[in-house]
Amino acid sequence: MPLPSFDSVMAFVGYALLAVVSFILILGLLMLLVALVSMRRGRFYLPWLLRPGLIMLEGMAKTIWKIGKVDDREISAFSIRMRNQLNRDRFSKVPMKDRAVFLPQCLRSADCPSHLTTEGLVCKRCMRCDIGRSIDELEAQGCRVFIVPGSTFLTRMVKKYRPQAIIGVGCLMEVKEGLDMLERKNLLGIGVVTTKDGCVETTLDWSALMEAVTIKPSTDH
Ligand code: SF4
Repeated sequence: MPLPSFDSVMAFVGYALLAVVSFILILGLLMLLVALVSMRRGRFYLPWLLRPGLIMLEGMAKTIWKIGKVDDREISAFSIRMRNQLNRDRFSKVPMKDRAVFLPQCLRSADCPSHLTTEGLVCKRCMRCDIGRSIDELEAQGCRVFIVPGSTFLTRMVKKYRPQAIIGVGCLMEVKEGLDMLERKNLLGIGVVTTKDGCVETTLDWSALMEAVTIKPSTDH
């Protein structure tokens, strides 16, 4: 059998490249279209298609922002907002009893009288901090609320109680890493970032937390 000529090999490579580039372009356009419709309607369609697209987008944004010397915090905030939005629809369908809130211990007063137990800290409602003022209202929604010193406790409580959805509170980096971890474990998460960072007496927009905890299915479909 005669060997194919150099020209025919190059033509084949050219057609193959053209096919790959066209496929990527069509896929990109499709993702863009789905993303635009999703944003317009406030809910994410075809998450299996959007998820890889958004991960790619996040990677591209990181690169562009790094070149433009944009603060890492802005990238993390963008990533958290994106994941929250992406998970919102599935999260809204999880019954309240299957949702768990994880509060960081740094939200407590520096004079907090609670003690560490195997399930984290148990608030004594001494009212020295906002946890005491809000925890009953959160629990009244029907979800579990934990005050934890770190991700080890979170992992342990998730293994024990098997919640279907998690609302994680923490500083920007904690929430970003927490959402990454939940995604690796195939768990649904929504992140709420504290309004003041630090190791003690951090602050939180409690109404934003309550809004996240009580996300309900959209009636607009
Ligand atoms: S209200 Fe609860 S968490 Fe806050 S300081 Fe008192 S016992 Fe600690």
